[in-house]
Amino acid sequence: MTTDPGASKPRLSIFAARDDSNMPWTDILNHDAALERFRRTLENNRLASTYLFVGPDGIGKRAFALKLAQALLCENMTTPLTPCETCSACQQVRAQTHPDLILISKPAGKAFIPLEAFIGDAEHRRQRGLCHDIGLKPFCGGRKIAIIDDADFLNVEGANSLLKTLEEPPPKSLLILLGSSEQKQLSTIVSRSQIVRFEPLTDHQVAEVLGRLPLETSTPIEELARAAQGSVARAIELSEEDVFQFRSTLIDALASLEPGGDNFGKEVLGFVEAAGKDTALRRTRLVMVGDFAIQFFESLMHCAIGQSASAEPDDQRFTQQTTNAPTGVTAALGRLAGTPQTQAQSVSMCIERTIHMQHQVSYNASPINIILPWLKDLTTAMRGGQINVGV
Ligand SMILES: [Zn+2]
Repeated sequence: MTTDPGASKPRLSIFAARDDSNMPWTDILNHDAALERFRRTLENNRLASTYLFVGPDGIGKRAFALKLAQALLCENMTTPLTPCETCSACQQVRAQTHPDLILISKPAGKAFIPLEAFIGDAEHRRQRGLCHDIGLKPFCGGRKIAIIDDADFLNVEGANSLLKTLEEPPPKSLLILLGSSEQKQLSTIVSRSQIVRFEPLTDHQVAEVLGRLPLETSTPIEELARAAQGSVARAIELSEEDVFQFRSTLIDALASLEPGGDNFGKEVLGFVEAAGKDTALRRTRLVMVGDFAIQFFESLMHCAIGQSASAEPDDQRFTQQTTNAPTGVTAALGRLAGTPQTQAQSVSMCIERTIHMQHQVSYNASPINIILPWLKDLTTAMRGGQINVGV
């Protein structure tokens, strides 16, 4: 029995119903462009040493990284990027026990990936951890591959410990970081990585995966899929009725351009505290509140940009975003003052301020001291005022 409170809620993944390193590429939905990119890169023998995969949580980035690792470590591969699935290397990758595969993620209940994951604990500094292990000679003669899940939770200390590895990658090493967006990564990491963007799934694909999961919810799957904006992980969170309800309330408040009232602040606090007494669960909820707000602002941004003459009317991304736009976006756009350009600037400030709010969550500040100033600043920015997004 685990006593780790963070573990009380299982980590839900897009592939919760199956082993995500045992999927054929064809089951890794919607990422053909990334696959094609790696195919070409390998054909030209130009594999970089560090990749940063970015895209919403719960769309299959981890499954993709594991499948890529399996293909690169397979002992019997005849077609590029098509692992045989049966050799011992393929089996070890599937079991996540391959000696040349290093997997790191944020432990449940921790705010960051601990420093010892990179450079070993105090007694074994630089003798253990990713930075040490990735420099060892590959055990099976091929490569050393490290996958850092939850790269959103790399703090400055952790990122700094990685810098030497990023700048002087050991020969035959490959490092893959998985994060939800480029904006959430430290610039020291982004500037040293090849970025691979993963697009959200379509509503239909989300619904299809949800249909395979043992999900108990009163909200229709199609409605969850629509609200989840391409992420199965988000759809699973939204399957909890209070979460779904809160998201609607938050969108209404943001769309009113007056989210800064004290009463709404208390409502947000109530939602965060309803996660239970455990700090880690409360932090997760507060980050989720930020994610809902960012989704709303991103849709608003696309609508604001879409009004200006420079927008491509058939831009697929724009079409997809606005089709998925939460209700309230059009109403909010009608209330925003200024030209489309100044509207976009206001919304951009709201996004940056919300990302900053999410960073504050990691530093243990009390929720109410994070929520109230954040909502107040959003109100100011949406009303055309200036705010300091980093304070
Ligand atoms: Zn194999």
